[in-house]
Amino acid sequence: MKESDIRNRETFNEYIRLSELDIKKYFSEKDKYYSINCPACGKNGKAFLEKNSFNYDCCESCNTFYVSPRPPLEQFESYYVDSPSTSYWVEYFFKPMIEARREKMFKPRAVFIADYIKNENLRIGDIGAGFGLFLSELKKVKPNNYFVAIEPSVEMAKICKEEGLEVLSKLLEDIEGGENSFDILTAFELFEHLNDPKDFVLKVNELLAPGGLFLFTTLNGLGFDIQTLMAQSKSISPPHHLNFFNPRSVELLLSDCGFDIIEVATPGKLDWDIVEGMIKNENAEVDSFWKTFAKQGSQEAKENLQQWLTESGLSSHMRVVAKKRS
Ligand SMILES: [Zn+2]
Repeated sequence: MKESDIRNRETFNEYIRLSELDIKKYFSEKDKYYSINCPACGKNGKAFLEKNSFNYDCCESCNTFYVSPRPPLEQFESYYVDSPSTSYWVEYFFKPMIEARREKMFKPRAVFIADYIKNENLRIGDIGAGFGLFLSELKKVKPNNYFVAIEPSVEMAKICKEEGLEVLSKLLEDIEGGENSFDILTAFELFEHLNDPKDFVLKVNELLAPGGLFLFTTLNGLGFDIQTLMAQSKSISPPHHLNFFNPRSVELLLSDCGFDIIEVATPGKLDWDIVEGMIKNENAEVDSFWKTFAKQGSQEAKENLQQWLTESGLSSHMRVVAKKRS
């Protein structure tokens, strides 16, 4: 898989440009920002990186890095509901790539998760379901279950309903009275956006039945393309991406919130392609070794590098499977 299979470089850059303009409008009241400790282990962090006028601290204990001070939730809500960059993302970035993403991302995810579905009549919820692509694919593979899209956006919730999914049109944190009501909860590329990851994981734990599974993907802040590109990385994009956990720190948080870890893996396939694309197309400043490798490395060496990153837990794309303690 190539980066260009799932996103168009020009459209992505235009989205980033619009986001930077929106920051000035939606996140201008800095006096309302508040400082936080490490969202994984609770210890103190130190100033680490600045981007788009946001500061990231890095935890000295577990190496998680995270936006702090943080804007209050209201600023995010108005930003995600009606900002020009969000509309642009949906219309021009996501929609034209829907079918490509269905094939390259959502189908493989459905196949992976189907392996964990041993019985029928399970209640399976996808948090931040978007257009319902993942659940629709899962339904094809494992039809005899209940599928619930948890999606706060009214427009997207409507599309999920049209796909025949049950819909809870609210934020996960606002669901009340659903204790022990799910067998499986999933959340794809959501964790990095969360204002309060611990609150979120505790809520997932409350909603799952004992022994229930929580499967999610997020960014690994210690992964190759992020660490190589650092401030130049498009994954480090406040106000969207606030939390960069890593395989160890995500275990700390989950274990602290009542989960046993089944698997933490980094199945990402795009690290090298992202770095090479940035070197060749956007003159990214990286270590001279990688610049030379981009120019002269053989295709085989590049593929071997990616495979090694994936298998060694060093890709930036991380997948976690955890089980609620009984
Ligand atoms: Zn920490």
